[in-house]
Amino acid sequence: MSKKYIPREFKKQVYLARRQKRAEKMKIAGLTALLFLCLGSIVILGFFWKASLKSGNPSNAPSLSFAKHTSADGNQVNQTGQGASAIQGDSAPDSSMQGTSATDSSIQDSAAQKSAIQGNSSQASGRDTAWYLTLVNKQTPIPQDYEPDLVKVPGGESVDARIYDSLMQMLEDAREGNWGELPSVVSGYRTAKVQQKLYDDKIREYEKEGYSESEATELAEQWVAVPGYSEHQLGFAVDINGATYDVYLWLQENSYKYGFIFRYPGNKTDITGVSEEVWHYRYVGKEAAAEMYEQGLCLEEYLENM
Ligand SMILES: [Zn+2]
Repeated sequence: MSKKYIPREFKKQVYLARRQKRAEKMKIAGLTALLFLCLGSIVILGFFWKASLKSGNPSNAPSLSFAKHTSADGNQVNQTGQGASAIQGDSAPDSSMQGTSATDSSIQDSAAQKSAIQGNSSQASGRDTAWYLTLVNKQTPIPQDYEPDLVKVPGGESVDARIYDSLMQMLEDAREGNWGELPSVVSGYRTAKVQQKLYDDKIREYEKEGYSESEATELAEQWVAVPGYSEHQLGFAVDINGATYDVYLWLQENSYKYGFIFRYPGNKTDITGVSEEVWHYRYVGKEAAAEMYEQGLCLEEYLENM
């Protein structure tokens, strides 16, 4: 019995030894292949990274400008970093508005009001006389005796009735990028009195931080317009509060389709005189908004080129 087993066992050992050798060879070949694969992907990744560096255009990247903005002025970081508190810099009148618990009835109310006024919204054809191109900035106060025709939006703020449809359509379409919530308008039309209060409060806030009155005034005016010089007094401007910062990126890329512009981008501060406000949108009509978006113009530049 054992005689029979020896050669067999031997054969088996030879066979096993061969198999082991083959396995080792395979292992080495496999490892080599893996090594080449790794090196190859590193080279390819490096190539793509270089290519992306070359083609990247920082001025077109909203997230980059946001990063710049937040790092530039320390205490604004939290304000713009979080959707919910983003508006504070712009002195949203009532922080309790921040909940997006828009009631359906208020939507319906304003829709009804709005349809009553639809007659008004016949398109103004003369570009220079168009109501929606009225300029209000640090040098240009709102027209005297200006009285907008107001309509309420969900949340309780009011806007000029003529921008209601476009605004609501934009907010509805922004919902998807806002965790399914309708972004809320936390500040729409402001009376001169409200604007005055926001302005005074902001100055006091800076004074509390230890700035002198003139310093505090200067700082406050970067965020809150002097009464009589705020677009909010026109009723065409809204401060939008998103559940997530992404909604602001969406708005930057899409608001022009609804006739709204990102009014105070960081790269136009020297012209507008206002620090970047990602939440502030202003109606200018679809045609002007598209032109400004495509050419990278702010309202002041656009009106000058007209
Ligand atoms: Zn605003």
